[in-house]
Amino acid sequence: SLVELLPFLSKLVQQVRPDTEDAGEAYQRIKLSISDSNAHAWLDERLMQHMFENLLSNALKYSPQGTQVQFHVECDPSEWVFTVADQGIGIPQEDISRLFESFHRATNVGTIPGTGLGLAIVKHSVDLHAGRIEVTSTLGQGTTFTVALPRVAPST
Ligand code: ATP
Ligand code: MG
Repeated sequence: SLVELLPFLSKLVQQVRPDTEDAGEAYQRIKLSISDSNAHAWLDERLMQHMFENLLSNALKYSPQGTQVQFHVECDPSEWVFTVADQGIGIPQEDISRLFESFHRATNVGTIPGTGLGLAIVKHSVDLHAGRIEVTSTLGQGTTFTVALPRVAPST
């Protein structure tokens, strides 16, 4: 469906509920920004909602309480570029290649809860939208996920 990005994402960030902290506190930490506040996108709304909930709840739960999570949307002429950046525990280099496999969890998660399915679902949603996903991470400093989805016009 045709999604008005700013209201859609604003509402979404208010609903993110990581299992490690309460919703109000989580919402305070997310800083949403978008390069075009009037942007509309043809996307599957439910897949997108699920995807961003997974990326944002990861960013929140794998970073210390009180640190910021930057959620930026760059509206390029040919694609939407979404970035979710945290200041958290980071991901060990040897785990990066297996990150999108079902049930794979990195060795540094400690007691942070999870099943290892969130990113597998994210990857699936990105693939269905003919997009790509990349991750850059520095252990102990933070992680940035970038999702780029092609801008498409509705077929009539
Ligand atoms: P869930 O299925 O509940 O989402 P999960 O968070 O463990 O469980 P994924 O979301 O698939 O699973 O993430 C897979 C693994 O990738 C995590 O277990 C964690 O090791 C690592 N990871 C994902 N996002 C981050 C992040 N922002 N910072 C650090 N590690 C991360
Ligand atoms: Mg997760």
